[in-house]
Amino acid sequence: MKFADLHLHTQFSDGTFSPEELVAQARLHGLAAVALTDHDTVEGCARAAMASQTAGIEFIPGTELTAEQDGNELHVLGYCLDTQNPRLLAEIAHFQSVRQNRIREMVARLQALRVPLEAERVFALANCRSPGRPHVARALVEARLCANLDEAFERFLKKNRPAWVPKFKMSAASAIELIHQAGGLAVLAHPGLNHCDEIIPTIVDAGLDGIECFHTKHSVAASQHYLGIAGRFNLLVTGGSDCHGYSKGKPLIGSVRLPFEHVEKLRQRAAERNSEAVA
Ligand code: AMP
Ligand code: FE
Ligand code: FE
Ligand code: ZN
Repeated sequence: MKFADLHLHTQFSDGTFSPEELVAQARLHGLAAVALTDHDTVEGCARAAMASQTAGIEFIPGTELTAEQDGNELHVLGYCLDTQNPRLLAEIAHFQSVRQNRIREMVARLQALRVPLEAERVFALANCRSPGRPHVARALVEARLCANLDEAFERFLKKNRPAWVPKFKMSAASAIELIHQAGGLAVLAHPGLNHCDEIIPTIVDAGLDGIECFHTKHSVAASQHYLGIAGRFNLLVTGGSDCHGYSKGKPLIGSVRLPFEHVEKLRQRAAERNSEAVA
């Protein structure tokens, strides 16, 4: 049996592995295919593709966009996209500048709470265009202002905590359209974490292609539940670990093992879509 992990992050967003380290881990775990899904960027895809080719692993370029539907935050994964698509690159550049401003605002809130963190420290540590709350948390730990990442989120960074700043979110329909016009497929990430299944029919109508049934934080029952929804709405089935690097001693990569047939269906659907677009 061949398996894939289609939800992975690198240091181009809030993961800690380089693309090469990530692929080395994929090899160690015997994966046949991986997808890179960094938040609001596709920058790591070229290097990950090259490393995958050397390792004999299939590579799927991707990204993870933050969106909203009826007041709920959703993450939309884009797969098989053209990573050179001009509109995709222009829009993600805008999301990245919004992320950078949000970091400055979170740091200002921390300073107002007399937590002496500098934005420049967060940017230096993040060293990427798509910084997020995990980088603020790491900077707080590095400066010994928090004991660990959990404390940083619990005290300051979780939703409605004092340094939390709401994030700009496009509509789910806009995220799906942006992915489609770049030749990609749009997949709802970790629906089990969103607690808003009622919005699924609306985003299916907006063109959603698939649903992430298997995820580190989905129970067996949750995965079964979303497999049922995938069947009902004729959606592709995906899955991934959402690995961000070492987590409590070992990386999550490979802990979710998606049967390879789903990768084949994903590729087939992308090829059909793009041949329709050309015809
Ligand atoms: P952001 O995109 O800046 O809002 O940050 C969201 C990211 O923070 C997620 O993708 C996770 O990687 C991470 N995250 C969110 N909540 C927590 C938490 N409670 N503890 C640790 N990491 C978290
Ligand atoms: Fe993340
Ligand atoms: Fe996510
Ligand atoms: Zn993710």
